[in-house]
Amino acid sequence: MEIEFFGAAGEVTGSCHILRFGGQTVLLDCGLIQGSRKDEGRNADPFPFDAAKIDAVVLSHAHLDHCGRLPLLVKRGFHGPVYAQQASCELVAILLADAAHLAERDAKYRSRKTGKKVKPLFTLKQGAAVIGSMKGMKYRKKFQVVPGLQACFRDAGHIMGSCSVELWVEDNGKQKKIVFSGDLGQYDTPILKDPESIESSDVVLMESTYGSRRHRDREHTVREIGEIITQAHAGKGNILIPAFAIGRSQEVLYMLGRHYDEWGLERFHIFLDSPMAIETSQVYWHYTNLYDEEATRLSQENGGMPLLPNLKLSRDTEESMAINRIRSGAIVIAGSGMCNGGRIIHHLKHNLPYEQNHVIIVGYQAFGSLGRKLVDGFESVRIHRQDVQVRASIHTVGGLSAHGDQDDLARWYECMQNRPPVYLVHGEREAQTDFKAYLANRSGATVHLPDPGERLDLNTLA
Ligand SMILES: [Zn+2]
Repeated sequence: MEIEFFGAAGEVTGSCHILRFGGQTVLLDCGLIQGSRKDEGRNADPFPFDAAKIDAVVLSHAHLDHCGRLPLLVKRGFHGPVYAQQASCELVAILLADAAHLAERDAKYRSRKTGKKVKPLFTLKQGAAVIGSMKGMKYRKKFQVVPGLQACFRDAGHIMGSCSVELWVEDNGKQKKIVFSGDLGQYDTPILKDPESIESSDVVLMESTYGSRRHRDREHTVREIGEIITQAHAGKGNILIPAFAIGRSQEVLYMLGRHYDEWGLERFHIFLDSPMAIETSQVYWHYTNLYDEEATRLSQENGGMPLLPNLKLSRDTEESMAINRIRSGAIVIAGSGMCNGGRIIHHLKHNLPYEQNHVIIVGYQAFGSLGRKLVDGFESVRIHRQDVQVRASIHTVGGLSAHGDQDDLARWYECMQNRPPVYLVHGEREAQTDFKAYLANRSGATVHLPDPGERLDLNTLA
């Protein structure tokens, strides 16, 4: 029995690990590589395995960098089950439908541009096939993935339905336990429960995205947002919040709801202007059994979610365009999170030139994105081939990361009393090197940084 590290070894996206035992092969995640065009081009490369011979997939959560190559796996012959947590299955369905739609649109555009037929990475039909093969499981309930492999999902507190996975492999009369962290959330994240403790394991595959970072205090961030809202009201302006459809949009809505009276939000019109974020929010509002204590209490007191009586869900393009005519008193949450596309672009175009308006950046902005230019203080940006003056105030607030920081990661690891060896995945090399030293020092862990293609023979584990 062995694990081969394939994707997200020494990088942040494309999570995928191959587990082989007793003539069977199971994948842990099958994520998309995200980043530059060149990086994303690697998504079309052949897998280092025969997709038709994969027996099953165990999926940690519904982010594209963990589930985004599943349709490609189907395209290449996979026809087994995909196990994920129940809420995760619903989010994956929303996400893959959107990703397949974009892939088809992109292929059409490139075909037109090059005059050659460009095929999409995968199609809506292949996305739908994945959704049809998904098996929704509950947290903390052990199940059989294939004969010889049992699994149990534990809450990872990262996004709704996110899991750390306990795996028990049996081969030739020997049994080994593997823990795959998935992406781990911060402790005390709103709405979600804390990352669950796992008592022991023979080995841990662990994410390390923010292994070298300490996050800013969340309460500080909340105060900052409150102050911006007060300023916007006094100056009679609008507030734009670019946010990712899954996770961040729901967290922002929840935060606004929690401080509704304190921040005088009844004086604003609040818009969630993204069909995908609306669908995702409905999943978040449905699975109340997955909430932490505070969200459970607030949702019960309110008679359900959302907590905002003046929230308008804007689905149609016309509704979205109508928001652009509002000069004052609007709070607009829209995608994309890095302002690379989506409806936020239109809102930015209409609002950036006026100094009474505010943009609150709540998420990571990659180099080269429009969001990054705003963060970096550009006085003018190009939107739809026009120069747009930036006179609105741009606020960057930290502290809302869906990933745990150095301390959170170590705290989760330390729940394992036997201090198993750690293989760091899902992180840039620099962060991993830092975190390796930190975890070795703080928790006495033996830490490895596997390269892509490296294999771990599970029989050699003590
Ligand atoms: Zn994630």
